Amino acid sequence: MEHAQVLSALRFGDSELSGGTLTVRSPIDGADVAKLAETPVSEMAAVISRSKAAFKSWRTVPAPRRGELVRLLGEELRAAKEDLGALVTLEAGKITSEGLGEVQEMIDICDFAVGLSRQLYGLTIASERPGHKMSETWHPMGPCGVITAFNFPVAVWSWNAALALVCGNPVIWKPSEKTPLTALACKKIFDKAVARFGDDAPEDLMQVVIGGAQIGEALVTSKDVPILSATGSTRMGGIVGPKVSARWGRPILELGGNNAMIVAPSADLEMAVRAIVFSAVGTAGQRCTSLRRLIVHKSIKDELVAKLVKAYGSLPIGDPRSDGTLIGPLIDLRSLDAMQSALAKATAEGGSVHGGGQVTDGVPGGAYVAPALVEMPGQTETVKTETFAPILYVMEYEDLEEAIDLQNDVPQGLSSCIFTLNMREAETFLSATGSDCGIANVNIGPSGAEIGGAFGGEKETGGGRESGSDAWKGYMRRQTSTVNYSAELPLAQGVKFDI
Ligand code: NAD
Repeated sequence: MEHAQVLSALRFGDSELSGGTLTVRSPIDGADVAKLAETPVSEMAAVISRSKAAFKSWRTVPAPRRGELVRLLGEELRAAKEDLGALVTLEAGKITSEGLGEVQEMIDICDFAVGLSRQLYGLTIASERPGHKMSETWHPMGPCGVITAFNFPVAVWSWNAALALVCGNPVIWKPSEKTPLTALACKKIFDKAVARFGDDAPEDLMQVVIGGAQIGEALVTSKDVPILSATGSTRMGGIVGPKVSARWGRPILELGGNNAMIVAPSADLEMAVRAIVFSAVGTAGQRCTSLRRLIVHKSIKDELVAKLVKAYGSLPIGDPRSDGTLIGPLIDLRSLDAMQSALAKATAEGGSVHGGGQVTDGVPGGAYVAPALVEMPGQTETVKTETFAPILYVMEYEDLEEAIDLQNDVPQGLSSCIFTLNMREAETFLSATGSDCGIANVNIGPSGAEIGGAFGGEKETGGGRESGSDAWKGYMRRQTSTVNYSAELPLAQGVKFDI
């Protein structure tokens, strides 16, 4: 589909797409597709104040009823799946099936959140005092700011929004300035769900603000935004996290990864190759969970590298809309430069590079690259740095302890995996002495998580958790209550204080 068709399917009018100051470019061909109006920084106080007003009524709507709105959102997303998926492809450059997969992830989290809306369980706790009851309940917190990265332009919003909404919080979303159209499209889809839901949904329950770091900063520094979820680079998280904490807000940080796979001698190599290729080159290496480091047992390294070089040689690179394409474009030319500069540094550090060059033939413009495999003599500074492009560094190991040390010896702690058929190795990798990451898999690559699990990572990945499991607790405040239904007033710990 041509860009104009994709935009008109989602009912973008000409006036919305022109006359503004934010130029939106499609990475497919580098074409300018819109000039959007940006939210003035001076407008942000009013945006936040409207969200506070929405909170006052939304928190009183029973959680299962709030879940009904998210159920309707899931229905609207199902209806819009093809169109929104195509827009993700247009704006982020993902191949068609990954664009659709991202929308499916939104539908999945909506389904999850609907069930959750009847399961925001607290606890009852045994009291040490007679005639007393202790309990723990969970309450909404207030406006939830959501700052997102370009590479998952819609799914990350939905992970946050679906949970925040059932938990009773309004949402203010600042998408990446590289992918604002997908956010505006989600707002249109959300508004359809609200129209069907009826009057219980207050005005401004979900607002989208458009702009760069300055607009994000307004959410980061406002005391009226108690929860701030920020997804992006560790550089951004290093600025945002301390600022939110300094004003006693709650940051949920989802930052960069530097994900590894250990391939042990017993591994099923055919399966490992498929997992490596998908997780290292899928989304052109632009997933936070992309595979960036391969730690291979010395005895199988040459065989595995030969298989990978062969597999890399036949990967279809090109227009992400075309059938059969597996590697689409990088987001922009800056990313291409960053990739080339990382490859030059790795070479200077003793690395030997296969592939990695720019591809200009048979592509519609934009920044297309062949994925790179780089055999490294060790884990150098370049290997320890996340470069958001399809570069896979290969290193070798002799014993598992050494492999796990290498895996953990980077600043980031998002995702990790081991390929082995040896149960002792697999369980060691998952144990307290194994991977230090938020995600650790066995015989599965590091990318492509399901929404049922809590998603996030340790160390410089930020420590936040989103999506499934009990990540919802990050969007609510916990209240411990003790009720005395006796006629006495005993003090805890046997303290006497008679007056
Ligand atoms: P980025 O850090 O450049 O931007 C992310 C968002 O932060 C954008 O919306 C941007 O406008 C905003 N921002 C930047 N500086 C800010 C500031 N000072 N105050 C407030 N907001 C600010 O990241 P990117 O290039 O869009 O995305 C790629 C990065 O995101 C990679 O490092 C990737 O690993 C990471 N990422 C992590 C996850 C995860 O769940 N851990 C998911 C997706 C992407």
